[in-house]
Amino acid sequence: MRVYNFAAGPSTLPLDVLQKAQQEFLDYNGTGMSVIEMSHRSKPFMEINTRAQENLRKLMDIPEDYYILFVQGGASQQFAAVPLNLLKTGKADYLLTGNFATKAYEEALKYAPVTAVCSSKDKNFTYIPDLKTVKFNDDADYTHFTYNNTIFGTRFSEIPNVKNTLVTDMSSNILSEVIDVSKFGLIYAGAQKNIAPSGLTIVIVKKDLVDNGNPHPLCPTMLKYSTQAKADSLYNTPNTFSIYMANLVFEKLLKDGGVPAMQKINEEKAKLLYDFIDNSKLFINPVQKKDRSLMNVVFNTGNEDLDAKFCKEAGQNGIVSIKGHRLSGGMRASIYNAMPIEGVKHLISFMEKFELENK
Ligand SMILES: *Cc1c(COP(=O)(O)O)cnc(C)c1O
Repeated sequence: MRVYNFAAGPSTLPLDVLQKAQQEFLDYNGTGMSVIEMSHRSKPFMEINTRAQENLRKLMDIPEDYYILFVQGGASQQFAAVPLNLLKTGKADYLLTGNFATKAYEEALKYAPVTAVCSSKDKNFTYIPDLKTVKFNDDADYTHFTYNNTIFGTRFSEIPNVKNTLVTDMSSNILSEVIDVSKFGLIYAGAQKNIAPSGLTIVIVKKDLVDNGNPHPLCPTMLKYSTQAKADSLYNTPNTFSIYMANLVFEKLLKDGGVPAMQKINEEKAKLLYDFIDNSKLFINPVQKKDRSLMNVVFNTGNEDLDAKFCKEAGQNGIVSIKGHRLSGGMRASIYNAMPIEGVKHLISFMEKFELENK
């Protein structure tokens, strides 16, 4: 029996995509072999690689003057790749809105004295700082922010309006809502949250930043965006399986109405859950309302023992991986694109029952 898996990542994938992969697993498209057995330079795999890029371009309406790169090393590797490729003057601004945002900042600090222009650490990252009060450095090479803070359940409801290159980590909200790619210099995302199995990282970067870039002299060849761009992301052996799975997800999303359709359902799912929490006498969501994430809904009862009991009993009711991250405690429901609305409704009815039984 399939459970409702609320894990933050790796996370649930669409059942029809898993079934298609299963059906093609031993013999991909009449090749007589599995997609994981074929050369990454074979015609069928190169076709998958190209189609995945084309489909992502369609889904996110990515302009032609952006490269789409499929790399490895996770979003965490991009914490280093971004400064190594984009720093010129040695100045960059970082918005510290959570654990990953802070890690990105600390990694960049190895290469240059970059600036933390704001932080919401004073309230355990339960809000996004008011952007109007942030002093950005116009002469910095780029401004980095984490669009959706997976652990703390916050998200930027508007993007920073800066004069330099905007860089964002969209690991946990890529393809969940419509965004204007042309506002960004670089977008990166680990695939294992809202797209595909782990091991694939997507980088969408303005061609100009790569073609006219000046990476750090010690930037590893593998981390240079120009290496990957020139080789069409096939400089070395990529994670072929994850690229294949990503393409299946892209095809499904295109068939289902694309990102606008996903956004509508995601807003509906999040509203159901937040409305329930706001009306509950047991559960609270600690996040400032306008900054609430559509993808990661954090909540708790204010009592650690009761939270533990909740997670245990949830498991007995087909609701798994609902425990919050240790840094924020309580519970977290990750409700990515692949979580059906039925899963959210099932969670809410379990929460209702739990509240009645634990008054
Ligand atoms: C999960 C996550 C990361 C870390 O991703 P890896 O691919 O495991 O390196 C970074 N940033 C955000 C926003 C995340 O959600």
